[in-house]
Amino acid sequence: MGFFSKDIKTLDDLFIHMLRDIYYAEKKIERSLPKMIGLATDPQLKAGFEKHLEQTKGHIDRVEQVFELHGVKAKAVSCPAIDGILEEADEVSADIDDREVLDAALIASAQAVEHYEMTRYGTLIAWAKQLGRSDCANVLAKNLKEEQATDRKLSEMAENRINLLAA
Ligand code: FE
Ligand code: FE
Repeated sequence: MGFFSKDIKTLDDLFIHMLRDIYYAEKKIERSLPKMIGLATDPQLKAGFEKHLEQTKGHIDRVEQVFELHGVKAKAVSCPAIDGILEEADEVSADIDDREVLDAALIASAQAVEHYEMTRYGTLIAWAKQLGRSDCANVLAKNLKEEQATDRKLSEMAENRINLLAA
């Protein structure tokens, strides 16, 4: 189902399309996090990525749960947006030697990923409610909450680093 084809006729179709998009994104993030764990030097950052990898597996399960609630087969549709964010993250980290600078880059890349997920879950929750599917909205809200908490933790780490550098 291409975004510009005419397969998407209703809000329900669009909801399913976006569910497939975030399903693809979550699976891609699951495959990317081990590399970020390997690159991170700061123990707190490394542990944060490890925790989020576990959470991401849970996000995939919850998205599958929403497919099931909605009565459609779980299927991914490629998401060039997350591909681009992760590709850029790879390119930048490959260009950095300094471990401190690399950690800063990893935090920034991870926040870009979290913000992408947050915007998708925010939209999906709004559409689920509009479609009268508060059951789906409730499951998706659990993922959104964990993405937001992760983003906040990354912000804290970024700010702590700035304070350390200023000290
Ligand atoms: Fe996620
Ligand atoms: Fe996430």
